[in-house]
Amino acid sequence: MTLTILFAAGANRWPLWESPLRRALHQAGIAADLVTEAAPEAVDVMIYAPGGDTPADFTPYTRCKAVLSLWAGVERIVGNQTLTQPLCRMVDPGLTQGMVEYVVGHALRAHLGVDALSQTRWAPKIPPLAAERPVAMLGLGALGAACGEALACLGFPVLGWSRTAKDVPMIECHHGREGLRMVLEQAQIVVTLLPATPATENILNAETLSWLPEGATIINPGRGTLIDDDALLAALDAGRVGSATLDVFRTEPLPQGHPYWAHPRVTVTPHIAADTRPSTAATVIAENVRRLRDGEPLLHCVDRSAGY
Ligand code: NAP
Repeated sequence: MTLTILFAAGANRWPLWESPLRRALHQAGIAADLVTEAAPEAVDVMIYAPGGDTPADFTPYTRCKAVLSLWAGVERIVGNQTLTQPLCRMVDPGLTQGMVEYVVGHALRAHLGVDALSQTRWAPKIPPLAAERPVAMLGLGALGAACGEALACLGFPVLGWSRTAKDVPMIECHHGREGLRMVLEQAQIVVTLLPATPATENILNAETLSWLPEGATIINPGRGTLIDDDALLAALDAGRVGSATLDVFRTEPLPQGHPYWAHPRVTVTPHIAADTRPSTAATVIAENVRRLRDGEPLLHCVDRSAGY
């Protein structure tokens, strides 16, 4: 049986994705008609990313059995009431590796005090070893767990926090409100890798930021909604937070004139922490199409009630 697979992830992405997808589908032994346009009622599977030319109403896709997101974060589609099919988010080895490199790089930059190094004055200040620099990893999913393990391998004590109780190698795991407090009270570096849901909105706010040790560093490659921006700016100005590296924002691109741009202890990166890599992610898509064809459970299904 030939499956009609609609690439509904933006015309601009098609040139990057067409060859890897065709190759991965072929390698998975799937007979597929991979297209960028099709009558909605003919579509068996949809590959999706939010954007201008992607569907907002899924009602006409009556035969579609699954929507496969190219993005890890699904907050722009998860609440769509017209979407009744299973929704799978992206867990891609290339994306995970990119996030590990971003988080480890910026954590080491904070740990070693790279921004404060002076080339003009001889003023030795020996940084502590990683073992003396606890890191809080808020979110222990595909990305948080990988980043936490990489930091733990470098010697950082990693305290993790998730919605449900977890057991992750090399990470001291906590959950619940008390768990959050315990993790933040010890953290000199905080990494936020939580999804954007109503329950995670402003998880870093005036109260939770007040639990941090003086001078802690925030690294947010998760989502802009995780942080109460006014509270973070106040905590930076008060010294409670020593520095922040922010990759994601409530409004993107971050508007010109936003206080983050000019703040001396804020680094803005333009949502580049980790991108889905077609060469590795196409294999993940093809495996889910194979599972669908063979009646097996899909990988990385979104829990619609939890919102991620
Ligand atoms: P994931 O596998 O779904 O993991 C999410 C983690 O967050 C899980 O550990 C989950 O807890 C925890 N969580 C969710 N709601 C929570 C709550 N209310 N309280 C405490 N913990 C909560 O997601 P992922 O693949 O690691 O990705 C995480 C996020 O990174 C994405 O949602 C996306 O927003 C962001 N991201 C950013 C970029 C970028 O370039 N900046 C790239 C990719 C992804 P449980 O383990 O108990 O379920």
